[in-house]
Amino acid sequence: MGTLFVISGPAGVGKGTLVNLLIEDDKSLALSVSCTTRSPRVGEVNGKSYFFISKEEFLQRKEEGDFLEWDEHFGNYYGTPKSFVLEQLKTHSVILEIDVKGAAEVREALKGKGVKPVLIMIAPPSEEILEKRLSGRASESEEEILNRLKRAEYELSKKDEYDYTVVNDDLNEAKETLKKIIETEKSKRRF
Ligand code: 5GP
Repeated sequence: MGTLFVISGPAGVGKGTLVNLLIEDDKSLALSVSCTTRSPRVGEVNGKSYFFISKEEFLQRKEEGDFLEWDEHFGNYYGTPKSFVLEQLKTHSVILEIDVKGAAEVREALKGKGVKPVLIMIAPPSEEILEKRLSGRASESEEEILNRLKRAEYELSKKDEYDYTVVNDDLNEAKETLKKIIETEKSKRRF
């Protein structure tokens, strides 16, 4: 049985890049695949990017308690499928990349179920640096950047609820720190 890692962090902090590097390096790690009711975008593969399911199926599985957490974004439902995560955990350690609200819900949903997730927050070296990283994304307006910064402040205010906080200053260093955490926690086998 593997260990479940929940990785959170504000937009622009580089958590997606870090998670991809970890998965590439360590074949015993699997990334959780969420369910969504939105249509696939060009290049997205069912079962890899998401499990693309109908609204009816989503609502039925939600009723049956198959989502560790779920949310609605832009009129579509998104959820972390419990059955998929538990199946993956039989042979892999699993990474969930999820926001602070989802992380708290996952922890609650798994209480008493024999799986204790390890929560890791990825933080920027400073608010100024995060602001610079977000401003570098040409696609976003000043208002969007401000909203993301406010959201980032909120997410980071929850870091005491996490088992670890890893500062992403140098990407390689952050990756190595994460690898060490993962190795340590895997060997502890927290049930
Ligand atoms: P997109 O449609 O662009 O892939 O994702 C839209 C939003 O849904 C993003 O903010 C993404 O983080 C969020 N999202 C994706 N999967 C899940 C999930 O399993 N649970 C929750 N709560 N949000 C998700």
